[in-house]
Amino acid sequence: MREEVIVYIGIGANLQGPAQRVAGAVHDLDNLPHTRLEAASRRYIGPPMGPPDQPDYVNAVARLVTGLAPHDLLSELQGLERASGRQREKGERWGPRPLDLDILLYGDHVLADERLTVPHPGLHLRPFVYVPLLEIAPAVVVPGRGPLEALVGDVEAPGLTVLD
Ligand code: ATP
Ligand code: CA
Ligand code: CA
Ligand code: CA
Repeated sequence: MREEVIVYIGIGANLQGPAQRVAGAVHDLDNLPHTRLEAASRRYIGPPMGPPDQPDYVNAVARLVTGLAPHDLLSELQGLERASGRQREKGERWGPRPLDLDILLYGDHVLADERLTVPHPGLHLRPFVYVPLLEIAPAVVVPGRGPLEALVGDVEAPGLTVLD
């Protein structure tokens, strides 16, 4: 089997029982092939990014150890999104969805092709991503950019509250 790598997954949901869906997604991530869950953040609730006429989002971040290659991991995540009933073709950008799973970091790898950009470009710009990520990985380094903590500074996260 390939070498195991630490990855961080951003989990978001704003339809069909989003709080329970996020908790269920954490469990489902642990059950992916060649993968185990190491840590999960608390769940956070906050206003949507993008079109404002949609429900609040529930977000969390999970740390996994996986033997899956980056694109195989992405395929597994998209399988879980489909299983949640997400209609990818109908959705507008950043529209409502029962589940969104993004690869935030894949070890210290930097890659960009038509399917996958890692580190996720929004990582250090979106409080609903970096707040839960820093909760479980305060010293995490974004390859090519440096420590996440320094990138986000003392930025407030208005509207983001802990759900648990
Ligand atoms: P954003 O990526 O800005 O958070 P989004 O999550 O709403 O937006 P999606 O519609 O879920 O975007 O995904 C669009 C495409 O993004 C996917 O088909 C996938 O191939 C691609 N993608 C690129 N990089 C990543 C990544 N790091 N994690 C997940 N998907 C990615
Ligand atoms: Ca497992
Ligand atoms: Ca996303
Ligand atoms: Ca996504």
